Amino acid sequence: MAIATINPATGELLKTFEPLNATEIATKVDFAQQAFEQYRKTGFPERALWMQKAAEVLEQEKAEYAKLMTLEMGKPFKAAIAEVEKCALVCRYYADHAPQFLSDVTVKTDASHSFVRYQPLGIILAVMPWNFPFWQVFRFAAPALMAGNVGLLKHASNVPQCALAIEEIIRRAGFPEGVFQTLLIGASKVASLMADDRIKAATLTGSEPAGASLAAASGTQIKKTVLELGGSDPFIVLESADLEAAASTATSARMLNNGQSCIAAKRFIVAESVADKFEKLLLEKFQALKVGDPMDPETDLGPLATPDLLKELDQQVHACVKNGAKLLIGGHPVSDRPGNYYPPTILTEISPENPMAKEEFFGPVAMLFRVADLDAAIKLANSTPFGLGASAWTTNAEERDRLTEEIEAGSVFINGMVKSDPRLPFGGIKRSGYGRELSIQGIHEFVNVKTVWVK
Ligand code: NAP
Repeated sequence: MAIATINPATGELLKTFEPLNATEIATKVDFAQQAFEQYRKTGFPERALWMQKAAEVLEQEKAEYAKLMTLEMGKPFKAAIAEVEKCALVCRYYADHAPQFLSDVTVKTDASHSFVRYQPLGIILAVMPWNFPFWQVFRFAAPALMAGNVGLLKHASNVPQCALAIEEIIRRAGFPEGVFQTLLIGASKVASLMADDRIKAATLTGSEPAGASLAAASGTQIKKTVLELGGSDPFIVLESADLEAAASTATSARMLNNGQSCIAAKRFIVAESVADKFEKLLLEKFQALKVGDPMDPETDLGPLATPDLLKELDQQVHACVKNGAKLLIGGHPVSDRPGNYYPPTILTEISPENPMAKEEFFGPVAMLFRVADLDAAIKLANSTPFGLGASAWTTNAEERDRLTEEIEAGSVFINGMVKSDPRLPFGGIKRSGYGRELSIQGIHEFVNVKTVWVK
């Protein structure tokens, strides 16, 4: 895949970038290693000051960064602004909390003094996706840099200008040169980077094949990875739910980021007794969405990021229909305008045997299932290879407790939309990946947890 900016709303090629050659990559890794040797000696107050400054830079120029994201990957401008603001939030969160999360922990043993110390590992490689081109990177960089690590970013090939802008933000914030660098390289260069002794660990957010490939390359080198992969989150609506609130949140949760979010609600599992009502409400809300130019503040749903994503989504919808599903709305690419537009789409009457029922639909397509009771809802919710997030709607305490306990996912949200929050750990189980980002768990992923025992 060429490293280039192509406007998804028009298909226009705006800028191409020459990938780094082997010498240029080696120079950047050398530079990162030199930077680490000095940077690891800096204290929390200095790092926190730089991280706070990064938050300020983000906020001061949020309109410019938001425009860049919308231009490169098509998310609605208002959502892009919110994304930049959230990046500032995560910078401030770790600036404030890292010293406490990483302070020595005394443990009483047979020693005179024994304790746990958290130390940085060195260069961490971050392989990141285009869908939240700022957030995914800052969610990694804020804890990693506060812990004293340095970062190399291999961003998705369709968001090179976002990747360069992030490097620049961190430099402008005052972090020493080399602490965070962008490598404009293709995916094929990642495995060989993992063979470099100076790169100590890696994190990847993206698809299952990319995660498996990085994990294999890292496994050969005995290096730690964190993987944040795909999801097909269930959104369960039970009889006692506030249906209006559930349908409204269901629409936002499915359409977030033009439907291209790992934690988007993708499978709507509704109790038979309220299914007709919920279906009607969801249909009305999907029909009311405004599809259009992502720069227009009135737009709810912009284009998909690339023509390949559009093609793949359309093929999945057709395969689902071929296997017996019915289309309630949408189901064909928008043909009266350029760009990668797919309309709000609802699939119903999907049998659990339909092979598409277990796949991730990365676009504005909702799969609607009807179930007899709570047991059936939980069984269906757990029936995919994924385990990222889950949202469930009920006012019954017994049902809530069973959902909390029995749903196989990294998070369960009751009567709310699955979302990430710097204060709470984020990540998946099963084929959605492993490891956690955010919160105290996130900053502990890339540190040496050193035991110290003194007699
Ligand atoms: P992708 O193709 O896997 O790309 C993600 C990143 O991995 C890009 O930088 C890509 O580089 C790189 N990459 C691709 N193949 C690779 C390989 N074999 N080895 C090393 N790196 C490789 O993912 P996508 O299709 O853009 O993103 C959508 C997927 O990401 C969905 O499944 C979504 O659910 C998941 N996702 C998960 C989370 C989460 O937090 N769990 C968040 C967002 C997205 P190139 O661009 O150069 O190919």
